[in-house]
Amino acid sequence: MKDVTVKDRNKLVLVGAGHSNLHLVKNAMLLQSHGFDITLISPTDLYYNGVAPGVLSNQYPTGFGRITAKCHLDKVKGKNYQKKVTRIDLKNKQVQLEDHKFIRFDYLSINTGGSVPTNQIPGSSTFSIPIRPIGSFWQLSEEIQRLRNNSPESISVTIIGGGAAGVEVAGNVHHLIKSFGIIPVISIITKGELILSQFSSSVSNKVSKLFRQRGINIITKSKVVEIREEEIVLKRNKEHPYEFCVLATGIIPNSIDSQGLLQTTENGELVVNSFLQCTDNPQVFATGDCSHFEAQPLWKSGYHAINQGPVLLKNIVAQSEGSQLYEYKPSKRILTALNLGSKAGLVIFGKYSHLGKLGFIIKDYIEKRYINSYRCKSKA
Ligand SMILES: Cc1cc2nc3c(=O)[nH]c(=O)nc-3n(C[C@H](O)[C@H](O)[C@H](O)COP(=O)(O)OP(=O)(O)OC[C@H]3O[C@@H](n4cnc5c(N)ncnc54)[C@H](O)[C@@H]3O)c2cc1C
Repeated sequence: MKDVTVKDRNKLVLVGAGHSNLHLVKNAMLLQSHGFDITLISPTDLYYNGVAPGVLSNQYPTGFGRITAKCHLDKVKGKNYQKKVTRIDLKNKQVQLEDHKFIRFDYLSINTGGSVPTNQIPGSSTFSIPIRPIGSFWQLSEEIQRLRNNSPESISVTIIGGGAAGVEVAGNVHHLIKSFGIIPVISIITKGELILSQFSSSVSNKVSKLFRQRGINIITKSKVVEIREEEIVLKRNKEHPYEFCVLATGIIPNSIDSQGLLQTTENGELVVNSFLQCTDNPQVFATGDCSHFEAQPLWKSGYHAINQGPVLLKNIVAQSEGSQLYEYKPSKRILTALNLGSKAGLVIFGKYSHLGKLGFIIKDYIEKRYINSYRCKSKA
């Protein structure tokens, strides 16, 4: 470790309280000892989406999964601005906040995640509830709770998108409505031939069978072309009535204007090399859903955002000290665990998969372990 004088100190600015940046915050004392002064800029705390379906179904209390950086930052007198960054000015090495304030940086770590686009299907911005940002998603629980007070016979929720998050929401909203003694009328609409198409067909079939037993309607090979006030319009003019429509159609990055000085994909993801550095600037790092890993496309998931954290930490230090950088080497086999509601969990690892109560227990264990790892211990 080098002896750092005040003059030598580097300003490390973290944009977005995403999973990798949270890892930096957790290791703030180590970064401080390597000469970094830390500033976190994010309009929200990290919300750990892995438990969001369980919060929806009341398995976990409201607010469970929110991880605050404050206690870690306090240990190093780090700064925290609860604001959005609107512009990155690389020439002057500063970022601009939504209130027009400028913050200077020597090193930048961008981890701003993504959102479900609400401009691709006409009507979706008015009539649907996107699952990300998570703040919008909680509207679904609030609306269902509100409707429950009118004691309806049934409540109908349609989820557009049959990926992992859409399927978890379907299973958990089914559980929630049923737990109120109300009939859940749940549908998943996907343009693919199967739900969970990123996994094997046997995984997809297992979940489809479970959902059909619960009465969840799975509508495949159906593209949604418009969402109207009470109906979803499918290609070939078929109409699907709904009360609540949830949008789980994939993610676009929460990108920030860098005046074209940082390379992005067509989608707006920041292109990063194997060391997680933006290809145009080695002092700017990007991780998680807002980035595009140049060596190979990565599945947008908390898994990568979490696992990039330790590499990011080592590389920021290495870059500042001129030592060797480490590559992020994505694991070939990822452990995926999904909460399907009603105490059913799906665990997938390589070719192995398990659906049932054990999967639910494993999922719960993994998520609680992650959240607990961010609890602040008393000042060292
Ligand atoms: C219901 C649901 C369940 C999921 N379950 C799983 C799961 O079980 N396993 C899994 O691996 N993945 C899961 N995912 C996906 C996972 O949540 C995301 O891939 C993950 O959150 C991405 O992490 P991130 O660190 O890139 O960004 P995020 O967690 O999205 O964090 C981004 C942060 O940046 C902040 N921010 C945004 N814009 C700005 C800005 N302009 N300036 C400053 N700050 C900004 C945000 O406020 C936020 O704090 C799930 C997603 C959903 C919706």
